[in-house]
Amino acid sequence: MPRPRRDYDVVVVGARCAGAATAMLLARGGCSVLLVDRARVGSDTLSTHALMRGGVLQLHRWGLLERIAAAGTPPVRTVVFDYPDERIPISIKPSRCVDALYAPRRTVLDRIVVEGAREAGAEVRFGVTVTDILRDGPVVTGIRARNDLSTFRTSADLVVGADGLRSTMARLVDAATTRAGSSTNAFIYGYWEGVETAGYEWFYRPGFASGMISTNHGHTLTFVAMSPEQFSATAAGGLEGAFRASLAEHAPELLDRIDGGARVERLRGFAGSAGFMRRPWGPGWALVGDAAYYKDPITVHGITDALRDAELLARAVLDGSDPSNLAAYESERDRVSRALFDVTERIASRKWTMPEVKALLREMNESMADEVALLRSLEPVLEPLA
Ligand SMILES: Cc1cc2nc3c(=O)[nH]c(=O)nc-3n(C[C@H](O)[C@H](O)[C@H](O)COP(=O)(O)OP(=O)(O)OC[C@H]3O[C@@H](n4cnc5c(N)ncnc54)[C@H](O)[C@@H]3O)c2cc1C
Repeated sequence: MPRPRRDYDVVVVGARCAGAATAMLLARGGCSVLLVDRARVGSDTLSTHALMRGGVLQLHRWGLLERIAAAGTPPVRTVVFDYPDERIPISIKPSRCVDALYAPRRTVLDRIVVEGAREAGAEVRFGVTVTDILRDGPVVTGIRARNDLSTFRTSADLVVGADGLRSTMARLVDAATTRAGSSTNAFIYGYWEGVETAGYEWFYRPGFASGMISTNHGHTLTFVAMSPEQFSATAAGGLEGAFRASLAEHAPELLDRIDGGARVERLRGFAGSAGFMRRPWGPGWALVGDAAYYKDPITVHGITDALRDAELLARAVLDGSDPSNLAAYESERDRVSRALFDVTERIASRKWTMPEVKALLREMNESMADEVALLRSLEPVLEPLA
C-alpha cells in the first residue's frame, strides 16, 4: 500500500546547534524540512560555549565558520592548563581546516546555524511548542504543537527531537537509556570586560575546576564547577556569594583577575544533571544533541558533539534505504562517544589527585583526536553554502 503523503519529510523540534544543523543538512540533501522551537529567534540559553576542534571543523566543513569569525568571535590560539604546581600553555596546532578554536555566544552560533538551515530551504518557525506526537500504531507520524494563536498538527516521515537535556520528544517516544552516568557538577558563570585571557584557560585544583573563555564583544566568560550539594547549600544565598566563595577557597588568583575587570551580565547557575546516552531512533523518530546524549559540561564538549551527531544523523537519513533504520547513526555515535563519556564521568567526579586529572585530560585529548579523525574522513556529500 502506498504511504500516506505527509506535510514534510522531516520535522525537527528544537532549533539550536543540534536541531538547526540537522535541519540544514537534511534540507541541503533535498528533504523538505520544518524546524520549530518554542524559544525566540536569536535568544540565549543556559550554557557556556567553548567549541573544541571537532565543532570548529564541522562549522568549517559546512561553510559557516567565516560567519562566526565575521560576527567578531575571537580566535582562540592558546589553551592553558593551570594546576597548583604548573601552568601549561598549549598552542593550537593549525591544520588544513582549523587554525583556531572559537567560543561564539549562543546568540551568535545558534542564529548562524538557523540562517544556514533557512538558506538551505528549511522552513523555520519560532514560538512553537511541541506538546505531543502523532502516531500510526508504533510509528511516529508527526507533531501536535501550539503557538500564541492556535494548536495545530503537522505530519512528517521523520520527527527529530533536538529539544535538549529535558527533551519532551525523548519522553513521548519513551527512548531507552543505554548508558547512565552518575557524576554531576553544578556551574556558575558570568561575563567580564577588561579581563585578559590567553584564550581558553582550564583551572584544576584538588576537588575543583573552573575556566576562562574568550568570547564575543571582548568579553571573558568565567565559570566555576562545584558539587550540586555545595551549589544548593550556597547558591540559595545568591549566586554571587557562592561563586566568589568557591574561587576564594580554591583559586584566589582567578578572583583577583576578574576583580580587575567589570562583570557585564548577571551570573547564571546550573544545578547539574547526570549524563546519559539514549537510543536515538525508532520508527518515525530520531533524537540528536542533548536529547540523545548528554554528559557533564566539565569537558565542554556538548556543542561539538551536537554538531558532529547532526551530521551522523543527517547522513543516515539521507542514506535513506529505509528512513526508520537509523541503527548506523546510533552505532557510529556510540563508537566515537564512549571514551569521552567515560573520561567525562571520571573528571566530573572531582575525585582525583592532580597527577590523575592530568592523565584524564590526556585521555580526553586522545578521544577528541578520534572524533576529529572521523569527521575528517567523511566525504563532503553535503555541499557547503555557495
Ligand atoms: C552550564 C553549562 C555549560 C556548558 N558549557 C558548554 C561548553 O562550554 N561547550 C560545549 O560544547 N557545551 C557546553 N554545554 C553543553 C551544551 O550547552 C549542550 O550540549 C548544547 O546546548 C546541546 O544543544 P542542543 O541543540 O541539543 O540543545 P539545546 O541547546 O538545549 O536546545 C534545545 C532547544 O529545544 C527547544 N525546545 C525544547 N522543548 C521544546 C518543545 N517542546 N517544543 C519546541 N521547542 C522545544 C528549546 O527551546 C531549545 O532552544 C554546557 C551546558 C551547560 C548546562
